[in-house]
Amino acid sequence: MRRTKISELLKAAETEKEVVVQGWVRTRRGNKQVSFIALNDGSTINNIQIVADNDKFDEALLKRITAGAALSVGGRTVASIGSGQAIEIQATSIEVLGDCDPEKYPLQPKKHSLEFLRENAHLRFRTNMFGAIMRVRHNMIFAVHKFFNERGFYNIHTPLITASDCEGAGEMFRVTTLDLENVPRNEEGKVDYAQDFFGRSTNLTVSGQLEGELAATALANIYTFGPTFRAENSNTSRHLAEFWMIEPEMAFFDLQDNMDLAEEFLKYLIRYALDNCMDDLKFLSARQQEEEKNKKAEERGMELIEKLQFVLANDFARVKYSEAIDILMNSKANKKGQFKYEVTGFGVDLQSEHERYLVEKHFKKPVILIDYPKEIKAFYMKLNDDNRTVRAMDVLFPGIGEIIGGSQREENYEKLVGRMKEMGVPYEEMSWYLDTRRFGSVPHSGFGLGFERLILFVTGMGNIRDVIPFPRTPKNAEF
Ligand code: ATP
Ligand code: MN
Repeated sequence: MRRTKISELLKAAETEKEVVVQGWVRTRRGNKQVSFIALNDGSTINNIQIVADNDKFDEALLKRITAGAALSVGGRTVASIGSGQAIEIQATSIEVLGDCDPEKYPLQPKKHSLEFLRENAHLRFRTNMFGAIMRVRHNMIFAVHKFFNERGFYNIHTPLITASDCEGAGEMFRVTTLDLENVPRNEEGKVDYAQDFFGRSTNLTVSGQLEGELAATALANIYTFGPTFRAENSNTSRHLAEFWMIEPEMAFFDLQDNMDLAEEFLKYLIRYALDNCMDDLKFLSARQQEEEKNKKAEERGMELIEKLQFVLANDFARVKYSEAIDILMNSKANKKGQFKYEVTGFGVDLQSEHERYLVEKHFKKPVILIDYPKEIKAFYMKLNDDNRTVRAMDVLFPGIGEIIGGSQREENYEKLVGRMKEMGVPYEEMSWYLDTRRFGSVPHSGFGLGFERLILFVTGMGNIRDVIPFPRTPKNAEF
């Protein structure tokens, strides 16, 4: 008999059915006569309760039914009063597929700290919390593709190994097959990359945007969704060295269109989570409230599901960088020196504390900041007529800060090269990119959504290391 998934069983909630379920024991309790086994198979946060009359099974077998053990159970569904579900299974056969020695198993049937689970990252999939996060993550991956497919966007795979190091988005990881013990040198005494695998120096990508632009200036609407690598040396709760980024790029889009798409996209993803992940969201909401119960009322976040619905119900504020600077300069927090970095005027790069102040304290909803000073943004952003700001947009979210960064791109060849010269970008090496502006250039725009930052928001988790299966951060790549 094929196994029935627990999610399907609980949904159908039919009694008097012969079924086989397979999964892992979450808990076992009971008395002399009867055992109650909570079994989970990953298909849902909810467990099915197995009821076993002890006299029908060998004592030796029953002993092996411990938390973490893998079972195959045959039985009949019956109405349940005590399990929290409509039905449970009266077991007729139990096979232990894999034992789990309770003396040695690191996960105990109790609450573990997030740190402990990070140190045992190979086992965290087995916790309710991580199971819920992984199911939400999967649903969000699917929704990303669904959103773009429904709108006629093409998914483009951009290279992970790149020779361009001019994005300026962060420190890069080098890719090489050179012998580090014995690095070849050229006549000038420099590393001789001519002898390296690609015959030149190469790195892991920090963004697929530049390649995305090549595709967008032919296919019109494209998106990438791939791993992104930044040797960020800051150990923050919002940065990973390896993360996933979604980068749509659209021909014939100006900044307004770009903002509209970003807002529609984020709302679509959040709505998808509410429509498809409610059981997991309820669990994660309870987890968050438990975690925050010792915090002061004003430091507590909004309840998770309420927060997601709140984002759907409100238009994002659209604000110029210069207005944001005025708001921050005049804020009590700035005047009283409560920011770690004081806001001193036009030109400062906003820190996450400032972004969060704007979102959480001032506007009290998501904010799209536009028209940043050109000096603090990338070379490819379209220059405004004022010659001092560029058509950049950052989408700022409560609890997160920047979740999306994007812009309208400079489509004018001369202006773009001018900016590259000003910013010291090696434009001679980038003729492949500049060709988009030489041949049939069009206004176009795009943005990058950090996938893990989205998952942080949707799950209510506080640390980005807990929303990716295998986090890569400074000094940490064990699992
Ligand atoms: P930040 O200022 O937060 O470091 P950024 O300006 O470097 O962000 P972009 O280069 O615009 O970010 O990248 C686009 C998006 O990718 C960001 O809005 C964010 O959601 C995400 N992102 C950037 N760096 C990281 C990282 N190290 N780990 C996870 N997500 C990231
Ligand atoms: Mn960064």
